Amino acid sequence: MTRIAFAGFQHETNSFVSSQAGLEEYRMADSWPGLLDGIAVVTGTQGLNLPITGAIEAAEHAGVEIIPILWGSAEPSGPVTSEAFEVISTAIIDAIKSAGAIDGLYLDLHGAMITERHDDGEGELLRRIRAVFGDALPVAISLDMHANVTAEMVKHATSISIYRTYPHLDMAETGARAFAQLQRHIQDERPAKAFRQIPYIIPMHAQFTGDGAMKRLYEIAIQASDATVQVELAVGFTGGDMADTGPSIIAHAPDQATAETAADEMLKQALNAEPEFDCHLPTARDAVETAMNCPAGKPVTIADVQDNPGGGTPSDTTGVLRALVDKNAQGAILGLIHDPTVAAQAHELGVGATFETAIGGRSGIDGDAPFIGHFRVNALSNGRVTYEGEMYGGGIAEIGPTACLALLKPDTDIQIVLSSVRNQCLDRGYFRHIGIEPETVRIIAVKSTVHYRADFEPISQAVISAGAPGSLHCDIQAIPYQKLRAGVRLGPLGPTHKGPANPK
Ligand SMILES: [Zn+2]
Repeated sequence: MTRIAFAGFQHETNSFVSSQAGLEEYRMADSWPGLLDGIAVVTGTQGLNLPITGAIEAAEHAGVEIIPILWGSAEPSGPVTSEAFEVISTAIIDAIKSAGAIDGLYLDLHGAMITERHDDGEGELLRRIRAVFGDALPVAISLDMHANVTAEMVKHATSISIYRTYPHLDMAETGARAFAQLQRHIQDERPAKAFRQIPYIIPMHAQFTGDGAMKRLYEIAIQASDATVQVELAVGFTGGDMADTGPSIIAHAPDQATAETAADEMLKQALNAEPEFDCHLPTARDAVETAMNCPAGKPVTIADVQDNPGGGTPSDTTGVLRALVDKNAQGAILGLIHDPTVAAQAHELGVGATFETAIGGRSGIDGDAPFIGHFRVNALSNGRVTYEGEMYGGGIAEIGPTACLALLKPDTDIQIVLSSVRNQCLDRGYFRHIGIEPETVRIIAVKSTVHYRADFEPISQAVISAGAPGSLHCDIQAIPYQKLRAGVRLGPLGPTHKGPANPK
């Protein structure tokens, strides 16, 4: 029987925040399970929209022997600590060694992991795996579409499969696609690969695959793929500061010439699409004003796109809140502000209590500060959130004690949901779990860049990206890259980057 090992090690690293992902962050359950090993890799991911879930389900259908190794993910943040990287990488390699002879390996990776020591975390992990198990072992990997793909990853992986949707609705599907590739590698089909970097960086809020240039590029990649050619497209993670940050293409084909041609054709399409990206980003005040001028009826959703904890940010900036307050917003809800201190304070005081406090704004972000006001504790919860949206439906998030505070200001109606664990507000469950029905309000403000669209766009008359101070810059020229390679354009049709601050 064919024996296949399954492992995963995910992180999306934002170089411009001060937090870190250590072992504790890997062990902790957040929107995804905590660190899993052995059979828990199968049982703990069952039914979720995760790449490894799709890969394992496909393996069950194929009737191969599944050897679960280890799976770990930490909420996006600053770099992965050397300790976490060494412990988890070593555990993966040791567990594969003790599994005995295997025919193939599937890895569920993100592709934008930066560690204290390695700018290319996944490239380093794959290099170590090759060093131990040799070049002959088929290794199929799946990556998040926010991967900053490197030549090292392309060299060591037998094939790479990448999500094609943002919001990421196809994570499990991508895992299944990677598994299908792996089965072909095991039957001695080793594709030739061609790698191209697209020479312009795309702001996160312009990467939505539901319309426009991004949608078309993924359609082209899918059309260019068939039984023998596989064209994969990554959009890159703008918050990672490394040489290879940005979008890229990997074409797989039976021979090198076909792979090169497919990659060149996709690159040509990406260059043609460059002028079509809509990167407009209104200020928070303008976004709130637009929302308030919309007719009564369905809510308007405002996305605080630059403070998205799913992109590693603190999720505690107050720019959008201030804009709502300044405009005396009515029927507005905002989530999630990460503020364990005030959440604990609210739990101590109890429902109905009123108090003055300062919320959020503690991350030292330029132009941001705590928001001081009078609040009433409207509701409290243990922060166990059941997902019902398309992206994470079936899963559960653990966001610690939460509190819903109403701002006590005349002629204003704003409720704020505070969490004790950083989590991206991408599902209506974050409001529902604390007694708010988002369908019934006028304005929904979320700390998310694009993922929120999956669950909030269907109930909204409009969605608006808002630019408030945050550490996931959507103005690419404002990002203080130190390591980004020379020649890449800072935004579609943007100025050309001059290169690393201190070239090696
Ligand atoms: Zn992503």
